[in-house]
Amino acid sequence: MSDVATHLADIHENIRAACARVGRDAAEVTLIAVTKTFSAERVREAVDAGQIDVGENRLQEAESKIPLLPASLRWHYIGQLQRNKVRKVLPLFAMIHSIDSLRLAQYTNEVARELGLFPRVFLQVNHAGEESKAGFSLESLRAEWETLLGLDRLEIVGLMTVPPAVEDPEQSRPWFAALRELRDELSRGMPSTLPYLSMGMSGDYVVAIEEGATHVRVGSAIFGSR
Ligand SMILES: *Cc1c(COP(=O)(O)O)cnc(C)c1O
Repeated sequence: MSDVATHLADIHENIRAACARVGRDAAEVTLIAVTKTFSAERVREAVDAGQIDVGENRLQEAESKIPLLPASLRWHYIGQLQRNKVRKVLPLFAMIHSIDSLRLAQYTNEVARELGLFPRVFLQVNHAGEESKAGFSLESLRAEWETLLGLDRLEIVGLMTVPPAVEDPEQSRPWFAALRELRDELSRGMPSTLPYLSMGMSGDYVVAIEEGATHVRVGSAIFGSR
C-alpha cells in the first residue's frame, strides 16, 4: 500500500470508531480529501485507493488538476470564493462549501440561472467572529435566512465552518456543537432538516464527527504536511 492508501484506511477506521461511539452510521460521513498544493500524481494515489470526493480551495489549481484525473471524481470548492471566479467554479464543482455572504449567494444564484445550473452549496459560518475569516455571523445568518432560502437556483444543503486554530481538538468541540445547534434552529419551520454539516479537518475531524459532521475536509493527514 502507498502511504496515502494507508492514511486513508486509518482515517476510515477513525471515522467508523467515532460514529460507533456516538451511535451514528459511518455511511453518513463523506471524507473529502483536500488536495490543495499536492500534485495530480499524489491525488491519483488517493484515487487508486478508492477516494472519490476531493477538495480544492483555488480555482486555478483545480483547473490544472481536473483534466489530469478521472472524470468520476467529485470536486468540492472549499476556499474563499471571489465573485469573478463564480462563473468558472459552478460547472466544475459538485458542491461549494464557502458561500460566505448574502451578496455572494445572490450573485451565485444569478450566474447559476444564466448557466442553467442548480448548485448545491453550504453557507460558511464564522460564529467565532474571527476577523481573519470569512463567513456569516450568527446575526447576519438569522436575519438573512429567509432571503437565502428564496434564492431559487441555490440548493442550500447545510452549514460549514472553520473554527479558530487550537492545540487540542477538544477545544473545537463547542464550535462544532454550536454549528449543529444552529443548523437545527434554522431547520425549524422547514419541510426537512438541512442535511449537511461540513466541519472538521486533519486535526479535529474525529471530534467534528462526534458532533454531527457529515463532510470532513482532510488534507495533511492524508497527503502529509504542505
Ligand atoms: C486546507 C483546508 C482544509 C484541510 O486542512 P488540513 O489541516 O490539511 O486537513 C480543510 N478546509 C479548508 C477550508 C481548507 O482550506
